[in-house]
Amino acid sequence: MSVRSRFQNFFDGGLIQSVLSDLSYRASIERLGRLLIKRVVWRNHTDEKQIALTFDDGPHPIYTPQILEILNEHSVPATFFLIGKHLTKYPGIARHIAELGNEIANHTYSHMLLLKLSDEEIKREIQCTHDLLFELNGQKPRFLRPPMGLFSKRVLDVIEKSGYRTVVGDVYPRDPHRPGKDKLVKRILARTQAGSIIILHDGGNTEVVDRSQTVNALKEVIPMLKQRGFEFVTLSEMFNESIDSHVPLINKLD
Ligand SMILES: [Zn+2]
Repeated sequence: MSVRSRFQNFFDGGLIQSVLSDLSYRASIERLGRLLIKRVVWRNHTDEKQIALTFDDGPHPIYTPQILEILNEHSVPATFFLIGKHLTKYPGIARHIAELGNEIANHTYSHMLLLKLSDEEIKREIQCTHDLLFELNGQKPRFLRPPMGLFSKRVLDVIEKSGYRTVVGDVYPRDPHRPGKDKLVKRILARTQAGSIIILHDGGNTEVVDRSQTVNALKEVIPMLKQRGFEFVTLSEMFNESIDSHVPLINKLD
């Protein structure tokens, strides 16, 4: 299987296509694949049946509390990639996320496509949210997911220089498209394997979103995944110390 089609499988949508066409890295597709594998976290390569649930675009006043309740009920932690502009409106919800033992992570300040911003603008997007997250619990967030999962070599450079590790994920059931609760459950079950990172959404770029399917799918899928022997962990737990030694040097591949 070619590197390109392997990467297409990661997304099973048009997303990777846009990623590849936007990458400014002047190299063959094989080297591009190496770059992506080395610098971006897709999943953990492990035989341990650990998986990480991740939620993007919160905090949201309706859906984040609903999701927290489900996680709490099942004693399952997750990692929340929060948007800075929402954080300023709902710091209490964000604090609650962390207090319940979940991990908080950076999803930039205004959720703009980073590819279209200058280095300085990207830095500001990351730093503003970093400061807000740090204020919540005094812990430095380590992971960043670029809005829409899109990045380029230049974007990765800026993210890494800002002290972050870029995380995407390998299980994306496309919950914002609202395919129906059953389809979401089916997609998650079909794709989750040891070391998987599952991408879901508790909020949206704007507040007017409907994440009820995500909430309902979650209620069903958590016990089913547990039954299959999966243990839920935060991203920091999943990668433990190894993530730091795993952060590659920016010039290594050039
Ligand atoms: Zn997002």
